[in-house]
Amino acid sequence: MEKIDVVIVGGGLSGLACAYRLADAGLQVIVLERGDFPGSKNVTGGRLYLEPIKTLAGNMLDSAPFERKIVRERWSLFGEGNSLNIDFTGEKFRTNPHSYSILRSTFDRWLSERIMEKGVFVIPKYRVDDIIRDGNKVIGIKAGEEEIPASVVVAADGVLSFIAEKAGLKPKMKPKNYAVGIKEIIELSEEKINDRFNVEKDEGCAHLFIGDVTKGMFGGGFLYTNKETISLGVVVGIKAIMEKAPTIEAHTLIEAFKERYEIKRLIEGGSIMEYSAHVIPEGGYNNLSKLYGNGILVTGDAAGFALNMGVTVRGMEFAIASGILAAETIVEAHENGDFSEKTLSLYETKLKDSFVLKDMYNCKDMPEFLDNDAFFTFYPKYFPLFVEKVMWFGEGPKEKIGSTLWKELKSSGIMSFKRLKEIYSIKNI
Ligand SMILES: Cc1cc2nc3c(=O)[nH]c(=O)nc-3n(C[C@H](O)[C@H](O)[C@H](O)COP(=O)(O)OP(=O)(O)OC[C@H]3O[C@@H](n4cnc5c(N)ncnc54)[C@H](O)[C@@H]3O)c2cc1C
Repeated sequence: MEKIDVVIVGGGLSGLACAYRLADAGLQVIVLERGDFPGSKNVTGGRLYLEPIKTLAGNMLDSAPFERKIVRERWSLFGEGNSLNIDFTGEKFRTNPHSYSILRSTFDRWLSERIMEKGVFVIPKYRVDDIIRDGNKVIGIKAGEEEIPASVVVAADGVLSFIAEKAGLKPKMKPKNYAVGIKEIIELSEEKINDRFNVEKDEGCAHLFIGDVTKGMFGGGFLYTNKETISLGVVVGIKAIMEKAPTIEAHTLIEAFKERYEIKRLIEGGSIMEYSAHVIPEGGYNNLSKLYGNGILVTGDAAGFALNMGVTVRGMEFAIASGILAAETIVEAHENGDFSEKTLSLYETKLKDSFVLKDMYNCKDMPEFLDNDAFFTFYPKYFPLFVEKVMWFGEGPKEKIGSTLWKELKSSGIMSFKRLKEIYSIKNI
């Protein structure tokens, strides 16, 4: 096959965003996707923050198939048999929405169709097996017996990026730096969703859970409302589940989650439409892959661009932004006719000037901060318990609220130096 300008491995958001911008610049691009169609193998919880990528994306997401604008944020601490919930909504979120729930099988497919209209070949059911090298330069890809030579290869092949690994850019996988997510899409009528989540038409809710949902392991649960479905799932740290004794199978967590009183009522009468599992990068800034090499760039999850802040989960806007910035770098390299590591290092400069590496860097201590069992055991157990003690009326006279609370705070150990230090350390994240 004749040499082309760019081969993109992976038709997820980072690969598609990269292709979109390259097509606008008139470069020859092929996107190779192993799934039946872009979106078919892609899993997300469900919420895309739009503001950070508004300027970068330009018209790319005009009339995109968003599900619902998120106007209601909920967080729950799940104890054993009780829970404490925060429910937030604000007029600003309704009038000036900043995030939307999406379904990847619809969203990625839509974006790939837009790209094909621009003349890009998006080839599904095509699994790339290897890269082709000339010395220390990547000069194309291999799939079975077929070779596609290219001036530059973009590794947009997701979290386990075999392409970045083959190119020697990805650090060896450590279980601590990854989590696994199990997700169900549950069909429910639009009216039921609006009623159960207290939202208007086209408005949605994002709900994160921590504590008993993962049986005290690193991770949590999520629920996002779509137009006529709910995305419900559990994420658990791979190291945590490997070390759990007695052993727990990850898929049993979602079954137990759905049996909880709080969840059962929300999904009652719904039918499961889709079931999926996927790995998530959790290593943060200190565990990113190298982002460029001679003839190669690494984008999105393949690079490790994802941020779990406990109360928010982000990855998709990093994927889109990094894809676009990779494309801009390639356009400049193409103009200079130079795809060396030195020229492609401009990609890292662009990422450093953007929210991608700024946010990743600002939150670089988050993985260490969250590497603390207390956030998944102690706090989710005791905070709901404090409320239970205050709100429960038993036989006989009721103690004063203040003294009940004080007694519980003392006996729980929350006033200990260790816990106070933990709470104080929040200022660093
Ligand atoms: C359970 C879960 C919940 C999440 N929740 C959120 C959320 O609410 N908000 C958010 O912003 N982010 C969330 N994320 C993270 C987000 O989904 C990812 O950051 C994002 O999908 C990364 O996009 P990507 O294009 O880099 O990778 P992907 O979407 O994984 O795309 C990679 C593509 O490469 C293809 N591919 C892989 N290998 C090959 C090969 N050898 N040949 C050809 N094709 C190949 C794959 O089939 C896939 O289509 C979540 C992730 C998970 C798993």
